[in-house]
Amino acid sequence: MRTQAAVSYGPDTGFTIEDVEIADPRPDEILVRVTAAGICHTDLVTKAMMPAGVPAVYGHEGAGIVEATGAEVTDVRPGDRVVLSYNSCGTCGSCAAGSRAYCARFAALNNAGRRPDGSAALSLDGSDVWSSFFGQSSFARHAMATRENVVVVAADTDLVTAAPMGCGFQTGAGSVVNVLRPEPDSSLVVFGCGGVGLAAVMAANALGTGTVIAVDLAKQRRDLAAQLGATHTLDGADADLVERIRELTGGGATHAFDTTGVPAVVRNAALALGRLGSLVVVGLGAGDLNLDTMDLIGGGKTVRGSIEGDANPKELVPLLLSWQAEGRFPAERLITALPFERIDEAVARMRTDVVKPVLTFATS
Ligand SMILES: [Zn+2]
Ligand SMILES: [Zn+2]
Repeated sequence: MRTQAAVSYGPDTGFTIEDVEIADPRPDEILVRVTAAGICHTDLVTKAMMPAGVPAVYGHEGAGIVEATGAEVTDVRPGDRVVLSYNSCGTCGSCAAGSRAYCARFAALNNAGRRPDGSAALSLDGSDVWSSFFGQSSFARHAMATRENVVVVAADTDLVTAAPMGCGFQTGAGSVVNVLRPEPDSSLVVFGCGGVGLAAVMAANALGTGTVIAVDLAKQRRDLAAQLGATHTLDGADADLVERIRELTGGGATHAFDTTGVPAVVRNAALALGRLGSLVVVGLGAGDLNLDTMDLIGGGKTVRGSIEGDANPKELVPLLLSWQAEGRFPAERLITALPFERIDEAVARMRTDVVKPVLTFATS
């Protein structure tokens, strides 16, 4: 059937809204009418690496209404409200052990530009479009998802707020809930107050973490972090940043979380830990890390990467939605909704006043 997608033709141009053809669902696939789609930095990092001229559709924080299901899909029905997340195979050793984010087929299922069988779910003027991004490509009015990456949510769920729970909010909150697991007497330092970092602040607050320190260069974002539960905020440009964190935490933080990927920031994040402290890094693309080896060894510190907050979306997304309903995870405060057609503006404003843009789709 025909639908519309925001097509990218490479790193140096914006998006163009074009009519595309979306295939019929395979037996294990689910066709979703997208009503909201968050924009995540991974969309832009992937776009920046794509050769010029290749038509591609990104988008991996989609949410919407199920339109049709393949013959093997029994637990999702047309009309269901769904949040789309990353794809996984469900059968490899990692998936069977509950660690779907480390699926052996993660790259093939999320970043190959086509379905697992090699076909393209989207085409443009008869030619394949690089698509099936994170098993969805949701910068479009319709997305082809799978049984594995669809999370059915309640019929009254606000899908604009729920959409980023499929990746950005899941990454921040999951890193706290699943990986760092702070206790009430713990101290967590969050470096970078974008959507991922602020989701970590909210999750730490929801868990009752005693000390939550938010670090960012922008005062506006530090203020937002304080409103969302950070007990202290610090300017990332402060020359005595590590010393200040040590003072606030009585000698060093028990936990730290870096969303920036900037080597100098990650180095400080590790230095700001106390003995046996743990740092999780999720920032991508700013270069290789340069850590103080003596400090790591002498302090018995742990530095660990995480993708998607180690989360199984079918478990974490419902938890975040229940926290949100109780007012303990006010994700709606991070979101700016913009019409699908204004995707270029939405991307540009991620560098200025918008923490988490979510595209909305008027029915046409
Ligand atoms: Zn797997
Ligand atoms: Zn993402």
